[in-house]
Amino acid sequence: MRNSLIILGSGGSLGVPVVGCSCKVCHSSSEKNKRLRSSVFLKIQGKNILIDPGPDVRLQCLKAGIDHLDGVILTHVHHDHAAGVDELRVFPLFREGKFPFLLSEFSHEELVRRFHYIQKNFVFQPLKEMKGETEFLGINIRFFTYHQLGIPVLGLRFGNVAYVTDIKYYTDEIIEDLQGLDFLIISAIRKENPSPAHLLIPEALDLINKIAPKHTYLTHLSHEVEHEEINEELPSNIELGYDGLEICFV
Ligand SMILES: [Zn+2]
Ligand SMILES: [Zn+2]
Repeated sequence: MRNSLIILGSGGSLGVPVVGCSCKVCHSSSEKNKRLRSSVFLKIQGKNILIDPGPDVRLQCLKAGIDHLDGVILTHVHHDHAAGVDELRVFPLFREGKFPFLLSEFSHEELVRRFHYIQKNFVFQPLKEMKGETEFLGINIRFFTYHQLGIPVLGLRFGNVAYVTDIKYYTDEIIEDLQGLDFLIISAIRKENPSPAHLLIPEALDLINKIAPKHTYLTHLSHEVEHEEINEELPSNIELGYDGLEICFV
């Protein structure tokens, strides 16, 4: 069965272009310098799964031609990943029953507080443990937790593909959990100017070296990243992700 992961959004929390910004990246005509908020669409074992319904999710579904979802996963409850959850109410309209939703227990409590009225649309599957394995839609998913700005974030692994977004601080345990990957999709905000919430590209390269996946795509990129310029500087098995990129895997 053909599995794939499509990057629906490769942008940081403000997206690119940034509203009101006059920098060269925000004014670039290259499609690879246009970044919606970070989100991915996973087609795996015949199931369609959206990871992170951020504020751009409606447009992302329309652009990618997503007309059917089997379930949703949320990495964490920051606005740029969770703000579009209300938009997902459209999907249960076209299918029977409630809609499966995998997330951490912390994210579940916070999401239900923010969007109390959506409970009738979803069957939540909150993860009580900080790391482990779970079945979601019949798919085996390995997960682990790290913290960003004081809240837990889920890192996700589907076989030999992993999606690790919004990471800054981590332990060596994560490096062990991510051994043997064919594809790693990991966040890195920009090249210089440290962030309290995100790895810089050089910091991400350091972590990637320790994990040693066969191929890596960087995502959650800010307007300080000019695609061609930065992509050229990266090692041959590490590339910048971009909106619409499809990664096929077995
Ligand atoms: Zn984010
Ligand atoms: Zn800009």
